[in-house]
Amino acid sequence: MPLIYLDNSATTRPLPGVIEAVRKSMAEGYGNPSSLHRLGMEAERAMEDARSEVANLLSVDRTEIYFTSGATESNNTLIRGVLSAYRHRGNHVITTAIEHPSVRGLCEQLEREGTRITYLPVDEQGRIDPEDVRRHLDPETILCTIMAVNNEMGAVQPLAQVGAILSQAPSPRPIFHTDAVQAVGKLNINWRHAGVDSLSISAHKFHGPRGVGALYLRRGLNLPPLLLGGGQERGFRSGTENTPAIAGMAEAARWLREEGFAGYARLHTLRQYLGDQIRNSIPDSYINGPAPGASADRGAPHILNASFPGVRGEVLVHALEEHDICVSTGSACSAKGAKEKTAVDIMPIGDARAEAAIRISLCPFNTQDEIDRVLSVLRKTVPALRRITRGR
Ligand code: PMP
Repeated sequence: MPLIYLDNSATTRPLPGVIEAVRKSMAEGYGNPSSLHRLGMEAERAMEDARSEVANLLSVDRTEIYFTSGATESNNTLIRGVLSAYRHRGNHVITTAIEHPSVRGLCEQLEREGTRITYLPVDEQGRIDPEDVRRHLDPETILCTIMAVNNEMGAVQPLAQVGAILSQAPSPRPIFHTDAVQAVGKLNINWRHAGVDSLSISAHKFHGPRGVGALYLRRGLNLPPLLLGGGQERGFRSGTENTPAIAGMAEAARWLREEGFAGYARLHTLRQYLGDQIRNSIPDSYINGPAPGASADRGAPHILNASFPGVRGEVLVHALEEHDICVSTGSACSAKGAKEKTAVDIMPIGDARAEAAIRISLCPFNTQDEIDRVLSVLRKTVPALRRITRGR
């Protein structure tokens, strides 16, 4: 049986055009962009074209894009940078209880270092209440960092409402950052309109290469770098640029803009079908987070989180693997074995549902046939595993 890959929130398969762009850059465009000779200048030109492509994807200016090794670095650079640049203004950060570990883990570390952090709770749909931001804002708040789409259950956060609340905050208003990894190209969000000052992306979440991403930083926002060295990326991110990966990311960004975005929009229907079929044909099953038919301002098109109480998430993941189906438990973004609280543990859905949660994450290359095969395996496997765990 051909493999059915439904773990696209963890990573996506690189497009053939991406692989070719990486190969070409390595084979032919291997100059160092800082070198003065022709090969260096060509590498620099290719990198600047890539910057324009990524900027186009986000509808921002190319001078506002900084290449990084991915969203983990982008989030760390931004958060540490804001705390260092604005410490004289205050020492309070607002975030959510369900951020990716690259934000939540850092916030926990900052707390140990003396920063005051407010973790906003989420409801059963995985959403924060924007009014909670208003309630917790105080004159010491220097940063509000709220993910655009949750990576475990696809909840879309009300960024525009948060942006509006922050814009009414007494001047100087807090910096508004968003981890947009699971949102870019998948939802039609106007980042400037939402009032975000900065955002993070990772190329491997949209069919680009691993280990490359970007940070958008609104013009006029001057932050200190995380890494010091040769002064690349206008002094903001030192280290010889990973030009092959950057070329691959640009190719993925072009695809997303020209084709991928429409493909993701079509996934809303497939997600709804999968969720409805699970609920209707497998007794005692639950969809965690946005409902199957959630509108695009509530639920992302590519992530469905489901629980089958009585069957532990990891047991079901392995059972599906025997049928050549790849899904994951809550989040595969942490190193294997790292026992961390994930969003499904934090959401108010109870332990039985949380420990039984699996995440099915789609991409535009998944088909209705694949989803039907997954459903037919689930319909047989879930009752069989329940019979074993219940000793019948
Ligand atoms: N934020 C979110 C929401 C993610 O899903 C991920 C990847 N799992 C990251 C940040 C980190 O991305 P990377 O591992 O590529 O740095």
